[in-house]
Amino acid sequence: MRVPRNICRGRACPCPQSSEIKSRASQDGQGQALPLQTGRDKPCPYSRTGRDKPCPYSSKCIFDQFTEDNLAVQRFSAPLLVIVLVIVPILAQQSTPQPAPQSVQQPSQPPARQGEAVAAQTPPAPLPPPRVKIEEYRERAARIIGAALTSDTAYRRLAWLTDRIGNRLGGSESLERAIAWAASEMKRDGLDNVHTEKVMVPHWVRGEESLELVSPVRKSLTMLGLGNSVGTPAEGLTAEAVVVRNFDELEALGERVRGKIVVYNAPFTTYGATVVYRGSGPSRAAKYGAVAAIVRSVTPASLQSPHTGSLRYDADHPEIPKIPAAAVTIEGAELLQRMQERGEHPRLHLKMGAHFLPDAESANVIAEIKGREKPEEVVVIGGHIDSWDVGQGAHDDGSGCLITWETVRLLKALGLRPRRTIRVVLFTNEENGARGGAGYAAAHKSELKDHILAIESDSGVFRPTGFGLSEKATPQARADFMEIAKLLAGIRADRIDPDGEGTDIGPIVREGVTGASFNVDAPRYFEIHHTDADTFDKINPQDLAACVATMAVMAYVVADMPDRL
Ligand SMILES: [Zn+2]
Repeated sequence: MRVPRNICRGRACPCPQSSEIKSRASQDGQGQALPLQTGRDKPCPYSRTGRDKPCPYSSKCIFDQFTEDNLAVQRFSAPLLVIVLVIVPILAQQSTPQPAPQSVQQPSQPPARQGEAVAAQTPPAPLPPPRVKIEEYRERAARIIGAALTSDTAYRRLAWLTDRIGNRLGGSESLERAIAWAASEMKRDGLDNVHTEKVMVPHWVRGEESLELVSPVRKSLTMLGLGNSVGTPAEGLTAEAVVVRNFDELEALGERVRGKIVVYNAPFTTYGATVVYRGSGPSRAAKYGAVAAIVRSVTPASLQSPHTGSLRYDADHPEIPKIPAAAVTIEGAELLQRMQERGEHPRLHLKMGAHFLPDAESANVIAEIKGREKPEEVVVIGGHIDSWDVGQGAHDDGSGCLITWETVRLLKALGLRPRRTIRVVLFTNEENGARGGAGYAAAHKSELKDHILAIESDSGVFRPTGFGLSEKATPQARADFMEIAKLLAGIRADRIDPDGEGTDIGPIVREGVTGASFNVDAPRYFEIHHTDADTFDKINPQDLAACVATMAVMAYVVADMPDRL
């Protein structure tokens, strides 16, 4: 999956509410003290994009604001709908013109602190005036939002995708059924240019797998093999576990892990910062002779739920052996840690039948609403149709598929054909190969100069907050994008973050297409992400409808505005 955009991007979160964050986040799901939240200028635990960028939300860390928003959304009711659909647009029309976007939405910079590099404090360049006149779009935006909030088509379709087709890993029969179903339904919707585009995908098979603690006590540990892992010998392998909290501890042990199973018990800080143990941990352990790697699941909380996800063997060092790797629950990792600290030398028996079959044929699904004036200019919106082989792939990323698909269905039903084409792409094989995104970029290489924007939705269905626009976007594009977002103020989805990206749109963004992420408020997303618990019952229909409304307004106005973004 793509990592959802952050709440606080702070390498160091200087917001006045940091002490509140500190108290809320000072324990993980198991009561473990997290090492990072020790002061006002430490990394914000709710940042999801790593800590290598300065925090633009210096004066108002919006974590608490989100919490209030959640409460409000839970009380979302008919009176609120009336306010959103009727009163807010009227009030907005009557209000005085808004100041230039840079003065209202440009994220502020954190105040300089002693010893912090000045470079990180460089204020963003001022933006030019927007070209788009949103008053001309206000009535249409209200119609789109109203239609989205009162339709259950996306919700019912997501139910079908998850309950009747199920999870959809690359190479599986269910993935191909999902692709065929989506294409056929899109044709029934009367969308334009519905077709599939062939992509060959890796076919990894989990096989039977188990992890057992064999001493000092015998106990089965709940686990999930990591995607793309090699398997163990048929009889499994048994070795002493060596638990490390981080790579520094691994490096300090060095060759002493030879012949052992390295267990990474790294507490969750941010997704971006913690997922490195899953991604590169196996090869880093294998470099010192470890025979397998076990990774604490990348999640802030656990009810004995293991989380899968891809590993990446070190392609730059093919001499490093590929060792089998699996995730254990937080509970399992902490048990092993305690045993090690008591000097009990836990031993593990790992058995994994994981293997690759030859690449399989799959496809991206394409559907459009053709532009009425400039059909060759395209706004791409999309999510990924594949999922892990556990759960139902409901949030990740059946939701992204339905948000974007429903966007064009709704616009067509409303008779709103924009100047430019809006193209939905349901990408295949995001999770363990990203071949769908690469395949799309290759197949459409000659058209990319006319791809004016690509928005990826791969953060689940929660209350929409807005978008993240690539930091490479031109100032004019940012000004226009931020102006359009004002049309979403009524449903509080008008925030534009300073960067945005996605795995599937990555290849075309690298070719110069402006990228954006669809952002949601998802503080609990990583508790179910890549687990058996990513199921349809976790989908809130009101959130899904609000996500469709947000995506549809933005995609429509960008595709329709007289000037090219
Ligand atoms: Zn995903």
